[in-house]
Amino acid sequence: MLADRLAAVRDRVQAACARAGRDPSEVGLIAVSKTWPAATVAQAYAEGQLHFGESYAQELRDKGPQLPSDVCWHFVGRLQSNKAKYVAPVAHRVHALETVSQAEALAKRASGELGCLVSVNLGSEHSKGGVPPQEALERCATLGEVPGIRVVGLMTLPPRVELPEQAAPYFAQLAELAATGRDQGLPLTELSMGMSHDFEVAIAHGATWVRVGTAIFGPRQARVS
Ligand SMILES: *Cc1c(COP(=O)(O)O)cnc(C)c1O
Repeated sequence: MLADRLAAVRDRVQAACARAGRDPSEVGLIAVSKTWPAATVAQAYAEGQLHFGESYAQELRDKGPQLPSDVCWHFVGRLQSNKAKYVAPVAHRVHALETVSQAEALAKRASGELGCLVSVNLGSEHSKGGVPPQEALERCATLGEVPGIRVVGLMTLPPRVELPEQAAPYFAQLAELAATGRDQGLPLTELSMGMSHDFEVAIAHGATWVRVGTAIFGPRQARVS
């Protein structure tokens, strides 16, 4: 049951916060609903879930209007600039910003200032995208100068590891990078890191957003597009 899985994930978030000595209000749970129909999202909403994540622009465009307007949509996928028009009007956050052209395309269509996180590629996996860590803070500064875009934090999708604890060095590195950025005056207060298999480790290392799909909704069906 979705309600049971969601409750179990919430309990695990709470427990991870307690272990880390963190206030649970600092950690937002994003239910990653990509591939799931609006009716399934509505079930989670009925359980009080307000933050949802989507990875495909057209899917967000189609699903968004079917849910109540107090839902906060997080776009967590890689964004193609030509699809920013589907994302910007409805997104509460864009998690994987990389380029000025993406930022400008988003700003053109956003209804107000749009909070974005810059994705950092910590595993040097070229296929995954993200800005190399050495360039990330400079990129944050550049993207933050685009009118209408507010860069509020960093996001990462670490290389797939066998054991959750093996993701810890990546999460620690992202947290350290954000702290360095704050020392330089960048407003990097949000850290988007941790998924179904490792969100507790991410919370231990300072995640403020965890992006959890499978553990809430079950195994994903084939992608709808
Ligand atoms: C799909 C996805 C998630 C959720 O992954 P699960 O392993 O199902 O929890 C999180 N972040 C991003 C960027 C995703 O694309």
